[in-house]
Amino acid sequence: MADRRPLIAGNWKMNGLKANLGEITAIAAEAAASPAVDVALFIPATLIAPAVAAAPDFFIGGQDVHENASGAHTGCISAAMLVEAGAKGVIVGHSERRTDQHETDATVAAKASRAKTEGLSVILCVGESLEVRDAGNAEEVVSAQLLASLPQEASSDWLSIAYEPIWAIGTGRVPTIEAISEMHSALRAALRKMIGGDADKMRILYGGSVSGDNARDILSVADVDGGLVGGASLTAAKFVPIIEAARNA
Ligand code: PEP
Repeated sequence: MADRRPLIAGNWKMNGLKANLGEITAIAAEAAASPAVDVALFIPATLIAPAVAAAPDFFIGGQDVHENASGAHTGCISAAMLVEAGAKGVIVGHSERRTDQHETDATVAAKASRAKTEGLSVILCVGESLEVRDAGNAEEVVSAQLLASLPQEASSDWLSIAYEPIWAIGTGRVPTIEAISEMHSALRAALRKMIGGDADKMRILYGGSVSGDNARDILSVADVDGGLVGGASLTAAKFVPIIEAARNA
């Protein structure tokens, strides 16, 4: 993983009640015992404040943020609200939001900018559909998506990228190690064109059906700097082996 510090991030999606706080404190304890790996959980907004109270030193983030500072946006959450709740970061551009909420690349870039303005770190997600993968031009399409979603002020001190092939999310299907390697190299090259040498410091995570069984192989790929994990982040029993794999990759 070059000299980039690995980041293992969990995305709880629309899962998690106060009854699940014990999983967060157990994962936080493993994170504290793994100083060479950054560990984070991106949890429902309602759970952020209780989670921060239960595990004050642990990195808790939100799963979305509005691009505006405040205003008439019923049901949305602002960056300042996330910060007030105790979040340190946020995910933007997850494929479920790009699909379900029709978020465009420009919206994703604006959300990332807003989050940065309020002092949040950001994981920006990109990834191709199965149709694009089958058509054979996934690297070209995802690189273009990345460049269009990247805010002007992108830099490695607050932004990480997550490559998440849509067809691999929650399906148990994972690209070959070779395909992951080729995509991450292509994304690194695309980043270099936009942000120059800082591209070599920016983390590019892989996401899509990461588990304790496949994490070591995936995290050993040169340009893979960590993982964004959905289903396997919901319990310490499934998430801890992935943190351990990052420690040993
Ligand atoms: C995700 O939604 O970001 C994800 C990678 O999910 P899963 O690990 O369940 O495929």
